[in-house]
This record gives sequence, structure tokens and C-alpha cells, in this order.
Amino acid sequence: MIKSTAWLMAQAMLLGAACVPAHAQSEFLGERFPYTAFDRLPATPITAGDATLNVAFAPGEFALPRSALFNWLETSAKAVSVYFGTFPVSSARILIVPVAGRGVQSGTTFGYRGAAIRLVVGRDVTEAELRNDWKAVHEMTHLALPDVREPHLWLAEGIAVYVEPIARVEAGDLTAAKIWGDMVRDMKQGLPRPGDRGLDRTPTWGRTYWGGAMFCLLADIEMRKQTGNRVGLQQALRGILAAGGNHEQDWPVARIFTVADKATGTTVLTDLYAKMRATPMAPDLDELWREGSPCPGAR
Ligand SMILES: [Zn+2]
Repeated sequence: MIKSTAWLMAQAMLLGAACVPAHAQSEFLGERFPYTAFDRLPATPITAGDATLNVAFAPGEFALPRSALFNWLETSAKAVSVYFGTFPVSSARILIVPVAGRGVQSGTTFGYRGAAIRLVVGRDVTEAELRNDWKAVHEMTHLALPDVREPHLWLAEGIAVYVEPIARVEAGDLTAAKIWGDMVRDMKQGLPRPGDRGLDRTPTWGRTYWGGAMFCLLADIEMRKQTGNRVGLQQALRGILAAGGNHEQDWPVARIFTVADKATGTTVLTDLYAKMRATPMAPDLDELWREGSPCPGAR
């Protein structure tokens, strides 16, 4: 998720905090990233390749030792680094906010005053929940795309949804069979519904997350077709980063597509965007799956 966090305030109020005064948490759960408050917290640096992640905790304790949370962040950062060939930014602030309950509850990524991620985590989160979590990888994947305007959030979310499981497979954290099955099951949620318009004009949950992921899938398959399976979306996205396009930058989507297309020697993204931006497009997903999946190891 990127920046749409108004509900987090309500969540913080509803869940309350058993040991920590609510006001101590609310400072860290606003709509924007609390850069000033973060910088007052003691931060622990962890490394991801050449990058440094400065990790700080909002008030509150976890049942698990903090080392378990650091391991989770390191594993997540490694998956993202494997996919992109490098961690997307040279440094990032990572804020962990403990709240009542279990699991990794939500994440949000920011870039306007330096790359930053907030992860809201239940105080009773278990090792298994951290091992199975996808949200940290999803958020870190957002760091690899320039910030885009509201009508194009489907691109940011679609890339994060599509890349996250593939990155975890490439890092050895998930099996290809598992993500292949999940994608076949979930991708149809991105198909246009009656009355939907193109991706730039239909800001529903399904079209934003899975419509965006479907755009990525179609682009990936088409790039592979046109290049004899030499390159795909991974090379396109690495091209954006290589040109300096990370989440600390504001780029128009046309520039993102031009730069990414140049990296693959195709015009696949620019062409597909022209087809899908204003018009609902419903590909035959069954046919696509029959043709073959771009998932690593799933062919
Ligand atoms: Zn997201």
C-alpha cells in the first residue's frame, strides 16, 4: 500500500494499546510518515547489499525478541535485492509500530523526504507469521518505482503484487508451484467488471491491485514472446532503477514506460498502457496460463 492510511488512525484507536498510551502510538500512525518523530528514536542499522536500512521501533514491546523482527526485515530485503539486482535505494527508514494482536497487519511506503516504510505489527506476532509475511517485501518493492500520481496507483500496486512472490521464489523463500497456483487463483480479481473503465479511471481495489498485476503479467509474457524469452518485466524494472528511478523520484508514467521499454529493446509497456489506460480490457486468462507462465521454474 502507498500512503492511503487514514484507516490506520481508526485502527489504532479501536485496538488501543494495552501498555502504551494511545497518544504515544498515534504520533507514528498518521497519514504521513513521521520523519521528525522517527529521527528522535534510536535506530538500528541493518544492511541489504550496499544499502542501509535504519530500523526504529515506536513505543511498545513484542512477545518475540527484536532479533526475530530484524531477521524478518533482512530476509525481506534480500528477496527484493535478488529480484532487482540491488536494494532499490541506498538507505531507508523502517518504522515498526507495535499494536495489539498478531501478524503483520499493514504496511505503507513513503518517498517524499527520503525512502521510508512503516510496518504495523501485532505485539504477539509469531515467528511463523513473520516467515510467511508478504507485506514487507511488497512495501520494499514499492521503493523500486518512482512515486506516481493517484490515477496511476494501479501501476505501483500491480508491480508490488506481481513482483513480491516472484522475488521470494528467486530468493528461495517460496516455491514456484505455490505462487503459480496463487496467481491462477487470484489474477481474475483484476478483470474489469461491468461499468469499469480503463486502469487510469477505475480506482477500485480489484483493478488497482490485481488489474495492475494483470498489466504486469501481460507485459511480462509479451516481452518474453517478442525477445525469444531473453528478457521480461524483471529487466524492464531493473532498467528503471538503473536510470535512477526509485521511490524518492517523481516521474510521469510515460517516462517510466519509456525508460523500462528501452531496457528491454521493446515498446511493450508503452503499447500496453495505451491499450489499457482508458479502455477496459479483459484478456483470456485461461488461455494465458495455457501458453505459459513467466514465473521462474513454473514453465
Ligand atoms: Zn502497496
